[in-house]
Amino acid sequence: MKRKLLPLLLFVTLFYACKKDSVNPDARKDDGTFNTYESTFLDNLWKENPDWATQEGYHKYDSILIVPSSKNRGKLIDFYKSQLDSLSRYTITQLSPGNQMDYNIIQNQMQYQQWQLELLKQYEWDPTYYNVLGSFAYILNEHYAPLDVRLRHFYQKMANVPEYYKEAEKGIKNPVAELTALAIDQHINGLSVFEKDLADSLKKSKIPDAEQKLILDRATASATAVKGFADWLKNMKNDHPRNFRLGKEFYDDKFKFELQSQYTSQQIFNSATERKKYVHHQMAQISRQLWPKYFGTATMPTDSLVLISKMLDTISSKHVDRENFQSSIELLIPKLASFVQSKDLVTLDASKPLAVRKEPGYMGGGGAGASMSSPGPYEKNGVSYFNVGSLAGYSPEAAESYLREYNNYTLQILCIHEAIPGHYVQLVYANQSPSLIKSVFGNNTMIEGWAVYGEQMMLDNGYGNNEPEMRLMWYKWHLRSVCNMILDYSVHSSGMTKDDAIKFLTTEAFQQKIEAENKWKRVTVSSVQLDCYYTGYKEIMDLREAWKKDQGVNYSLKGFNEKFLSYGSAPVKFIKEAMMRKDASTNTSTSSSGSNH
Ligand code: ZN
Ligand code: ZN
Repeated sequence: MKRKLLPLLLFVTLFYACKKDSVNPDARKDDGTFNTYESTFLDNLWKENPDWATQEGYHKYDSILIVPSSKNRGKLIDFYKSQLDSLSRYTITQLSPGNQMDYNIIQNQMQYQQWQLELLKQYEWDPTYYNVLGSFAYILNEHYAPLDVRLRHFYQKMANVPEYYKEAEKGIKNPVAELTALAIDQHINGLSVFEKDLADSLKKSKIPDAEQKLILDRATASATAVKGFADWLKNMKNDHPRNFRLGKEFYDDKFKFELQSQYTSQQIFNSATERKKYVHHQMAQISRQLWPKYFGTATMPTDSLVLISKMLDTISSKHVDRENFQSSIELLIPKLASFVQSKDLVTLDASKPLAVRKEPGYMGGGGAGASMSSPGPYEKNGVSYFNVGSLAGYSPEAAESYLREYNNYTLQILCIHEAIPGHYVQLVYANQSPSLIKSVFGNNTMIEGWAVYGEQMMLDNGYGNNEPEMRLMWYKWHLRSVCNMILDYSVHSSGMTKDDAIKFLTTEAFQQKIEAENKWKRVTVSSVQLDCYYTGYKEIMDLREAWKKDQGVNYSLKGFNEKFLSYGSAPVKFIKEAMMRKDASTNTSTSSSGSNH
């Protein structure tokens, strides 16, 4: 597996280079050399970032653990600079539209990484920046190579664990208290990978006893280093911790690099604020309409937020039992697929498997929740998993609260978002795009935006028989994206307090106290991440409007969806440029014409 990858990569590159020169009408003068550059760039990127490579399915550097020393940070900065240098040698107009997109994506990423190390300096104030456990768990649990091979890489990689944490301690200065607490938790909770999981796997392997002993000794040393780091964090004197708020200047820059939106954070914040007003208005209208059905002649609350909240609370009581949570999801998937087909929304590829599974223990949730694991760019034909967290550890009250949150309506929206036509469908399309760059630097704003957009598209096309209850619940769900944006911006950029945040989420986004408290926790340990849902949604809706106008009578929803998806997980602003380019939009019949190669 490890050996096969490189030749395959070269083959792909040569093939496209050749195809471009001879067949592709979009090919330009510098495409050939640019394609060669891209593949060397990627291998060098993986060499510098082996943990990241492992998770992308590139396993050549699995046995390497790079120590986070200041010398190595310097090397990384040099690497980013030299890539920017290499890029500057290409004339962007001499590249095909697909390669122009790749060029812009690489450039942004290199500038972003450099900015992080030189200005943001997360390695000083964010102890969660350091963590080896995820990669080790991945190597142990993902079956991409024979167990014995993975175990030996695991062993080699462990050699640097003690040194890794020694350097981590040297790098940390006045860390954020919330992030320090989180890092301690993560390290204590993840310890089992060295203390137990490795030993369990060794028993299943064919590795000789003597070698097993060496491996276990090194695991003990690794566990000691991890515990030592957690203790060091617990006991460190930190009289002047950094504030968890990013501050306006860093925030604006991080938003720009991370989301790569055509809009600024301020513009999206304003748009979300308007959207919230509109959604409240719509929700009040539906609630008034539904009132007699659920409350007969009882007096309707005059405050519209109270009215909505009461209606949501009543409808939420329709939910499945905890035993049937996962099986209900399994039953929904084929229904969603046939709806998408009957309305001709987007072509589904039946040959790409989707399996619903219990969330694997090492993914760390330990509780309920749902997510999608999709095959990486180097393992395109793998299975997509819809991971469903377990409710087993929940008290009856907690389970009830969770099941009300994922009631009969929202459970369907969840499946639309995660699977069809949301994340699963988008990633199947993305894997058809031959550009590794777009997959490796997958733009989360486009990815989440598509899933949010997909929810609305399904409802707008009559999913759920146009039931007002369904629409009302979707608005509540949608408000989460809208309010995530407002919250994140307000907290990091303008100092919103915890009390104001909880009040905002419970009254204006209709969240339960527990959910609001969890969201507050999340916003104190992350920034900008919560913005991608609404930002991506808005950009896609805007683009669809523009495209519709441009296409006139030739417009079709399916045509838009498939064209949009054909570019891979690229920032929406670049997809927009490519779609609205005059020479591209006249040729809509070949959906892949704009998609790079
Ligand atoms: Zn109930
Ligand atoms: Zn999502």
